[in-house]
Amino acid sequence: MDKIKMITPLVEMDGDEMTRVLWKWIKEILIEPFVDLKTEYYDLGLKNRDLTDDKVTAESAIATKKYGVAVKCATITPNAQRVEEYSLKSMYKSPNGTIRAMLDGTVFRAPILVEGITPYIPTWKKPIVIARHAYGDIYKAVDGLAGKAKAELVYTDREGNKVTKLIHDFDGDGVVMAMHNTDKSIKSFARACFNYALDLKLPLWFSTKDTISKVYDGRFKAIFNEVYENEYKDKFESAGIEYMYTLIDDVVARIVRSEGGIVWACKNYDGDVMSDMVATAYGSLAMMTSVLVSPDGVYEYEAAHGTVTRHYYKYVKGEETSTNPVATIFAWSGALRKRGELDNLPDLVDFACRLEKATLSTIEEGEMTGDLVGLFKKEGVTPKKLSSQDFLKAIATRI
Ligand code: NAP
Ligand code: MG
Repeated sequence: MDKIKMITPLVEMDGDEMTRVLWKWIKEILIEPFVDLKTEYYDLGLKNRDLTDDKVTAESAIATKKYGVAVKCATITPNAQRVEEYSLKSMYKSPNGTIRAMLDGTVFRAPILVEGITPYIPTWKKPIVIARHAYGDIYKAVDGLAGKAKAELVYTDREGNKVTKLIHDFDGDGVVMAMHNTDKSIKSFARACFNYALDLKLPLWFSTKDTISKVYDGRFKAIFNEVYENEYKDKFESAGIEYMYTLIDDVVARIVRSEGGIVWACKNYDGDVMSDMVATAYGSLAMMTSVLVSPDGVYEYEAAHGTVTRHYYKYVKGEETSTNPVATIFAWSGALRKRGELDNLPDLVDFACRLEKATLSTIEEGEMTGDLVGLFKKEGVTPKKLSSQDFLKAIATRI
């Protein structure tokens, strides 16, 4: 059999621990036998980040800007304990944080649905994709305690002119907070959401609380509306999808009653809270994909979970593990499909679809990793727990 050819390399970002082990197996068992794989390899494993003073992380982001599509393995974000474990020169920043800052992106998270694993909300038949704005608001706020004092908001312009607004005149103890966002960041968030919805051909819902937060949330609403009217309205109409703005409490009620099949754009805090709610309601973090999309159309695919440290320590002791590789497989298939679309390679697009379909059928026919066995309920099928490698081989036979 001839292997499927690629034109442009994928940017491959290797990672740490159990997911690094799965990474190698996924390539060997599921991809390299079928695809003449072309990648530009960056080793973001913690040892190599230390060796390169973390320059490799920035280099991988630059390569992603150059080529347009990356696939990333989960990586350790070092804390004090990791600094000791790996004898690190420094407590490096989160690689995801570095890459996000360089690509100026929005993070989209979507559940992978399989027959046999029922969402806790039974009406949800299709994925609900959360698009989370990852800049500002309470994550970059200034707050403090205020006791018996007049709290004021002061703006000073470049000429030194001040405008002062009274927040509250405290006659007892209390708290205050000031937060911000920028038009630039909101605009790029809006564009990333519109592009992503067009890509998936799903409607986009955006929600804030602009009835209460008239200026702050009102700005988000107005910018989304302006970007939509000027740049996306025609594209949405020809794709047959809608853009809807409504209040956050209204969306919460609509989402619960919906069938899914929606991209839900959320402000930073709303996205933080709602993505955990949605992930849990669909079953498992190991069945959740994550993609970073930049406003100029650069894509970085990854799994939503971490490096699964507990399983890795078992693996190092020589024990067999049953770690779920599905989200990492879908990071690869997502990246290969996007590369195929951009380079006009229908065989590569088709392979990505077959890889996903084979993965889902393997589970639907009862062969799965340990984390899913307890969740699986399908008439006539008794779930069987496989090791990670045996699960990957079971998928390969179905491709
Ligand atoms: P984690 O790696 O996501 O694992 C937490 C627990 O969730 C695991 O112990 C396991 O539960 C379950 N789990 C997660 N993924 C699974 C999978 N694929 N298959 C089966 N079970 C799975 O989170 P963590 O232990 O908090 O973090 C470990 C390391 O990952 C940290 O160093 C952190 O910095 C890093 N991290 C990286 C990323 C990223 O690169 N995107 C994201 C988050 C965390 P059981 O042990 O009960 O089986
Ligand atoms: Mg959260």
